[in-house]
Amino acid sequence: MKKLIKNGLIVTAADTYKANVLIENGKISAIGEHIEEEGAEIIDAKGRYLLPGGIDPHTHLDMPFGGTVTKDDFETGTKAAAFGGTTTVIDFCLTSKGEPLKNSIDTWHNKSKDKACIDYSFHLMVGEINDDVLAELPQVISEEGITSFKVFMAYKNVFQADDETLFRTLLAAKDLGALVMVHAENGDVIDYLTKKALEDGNTDPIYHALTRPPEAEGEATGRAAQLTGLADSQLYVVHVSCSNAVEKIAEARNKGLNVWGETCPQYLVLDQSYLERPNFEGAKYVWSPPLREKWHQDILWNALKNGQLQTLGSDQCSFDFNGQKDLGRGDFTKIPNGGPIIEDRVSILFSEGVKKGRITLNQFVDITSTRIAKLFGLFPKKGTIAVGSDADIVIFDPSVERVISAESHHMAVDYNAFEGMKVTGEPVSVLSRGEFVVKEKQFVGKPGSGQFIKRAKYGEEVCEQGRESLQSTQI
Ligand SMILES: [Zn+2]
Repeated sequence: MKKLIKNGLIVTAADTYKANVLIENGKISAIGEHIEEEGAEIIDAKGRYLLPGGIDPHTHLDMPFGGTVTKDDFETGTKAAAFGGTTTVIDFCLTSKGEPLKNSIDTWHNKSKDKACIDYSFHLMVGEINDDVLAELPQVISEEGITSFKVFMAYKNVFQADDETLFRTLLAAKDLGALVMVHAENGDVIDYLTKKALEDGNTDPIYHALTRPPEAEGEATGRAAQLTGLADSQLYVVHVSCSNAVEKIAEARNKGLNVWGETCPQYLVLDQSYLERPNFEGAKYVWSPPLREKWHQDILWNALKNGQLQTLGSDQCSFDFNGQKDLGRGDFTKIPNGGPIIEDRVSILFSEGVKKGRITLNQFVDITSTRIAKLFGLFPKKGTIAVGSDADIVIFDPSVERVISAESHHMAVDYNAFEGMKVTGEPVSVLSRGEFVVKEKQFVGKPGSGQFIKRAKYGEEVCEQGRESLQSTQI
């Protein structure tokens, strides 16, 4: 059945204007002032914004970590994402050394296919480079439609790759048309500082932050950027948390390198002092990279405003406080890293960014959706409201005020990192390919209705059938 959304204010990365939107067969078929369509379901969006569905470029759903598994899986995680105004997630597919990449990709398909309530895709972790991996990568791109690789520069003896692996991944990505993502922290230095802290009897959560100083992130970010220049490749730095890393990204971009940076809500509004909360509550705020001293927040906001950082990911990686985070009592290195953010990513950027005058409304759409679609080969299928694009639309009330709380959130965890935070603005209804997933704040979606999206190569657009590239995209 056709749907006609009337009276809403369309907001894209470029424009803000009043028009009606007609949806047919899951796509936007017309946009205009005077569309009338007999028989269409009418949706009145008076007083509300119509935003392109948010795209979360950084999630870890159903992911094993440190002897436990993230609490939110593809069902609860994508449901919560939808409530938060996100209609596509790109999750990290972990790989194991010596195993065919295909096996890991199949594992991730099995985790997601009957569960996802919104569309999704995968990034692929590259932990080693050898003849087998190099032989498989072209198929990962052309057949699997996975066009971004993730290299960890931290987590020594777990995920960490050496510089040769990073450099050769950058070279391969250049040849194949993929974007290389890095977790940029100096894992060797952090490993030493961590061991030393434990030897000295420093076991509280705050030492998680103190053993991962901003210099370790700045150094790794700069190193990855230099290697990207040497390889003439392209780099996306995930979860940028501090001034030191922003400086290195800005420096690389000023030289004309293809270096991009993502930050996350937690780094914009929370700070290192949260790790010192009593009764082990500091463990709720253990991320890698860690929360920083408060002054870094202004640097991050300015970087989003002036384009040195371009995107906002959630780094959704949720663990219960009771039974998971508390595995690290008496030893901060055993606290599972990560937090539940997938639901509040869009709202926090709107409330703290747009409402407080730090970024414009159109920048907000670019940062949470459009730019991500362009960087990761989803545009213009996703990431905008335009004729021919998927009808992934968020009907957003910009004036409602509410308080974020674990009592009302939809994630499967027992706490919310932003508990008690007042925000303005809320997604009211959310459509994925023209079907309601959330309607007037009620979940009406279906697990398994989300589709895996094969993405275009870096810098190319995804066309109707999903794979063949049409033309290069201005990123
Ligand atoms: Zn992550």
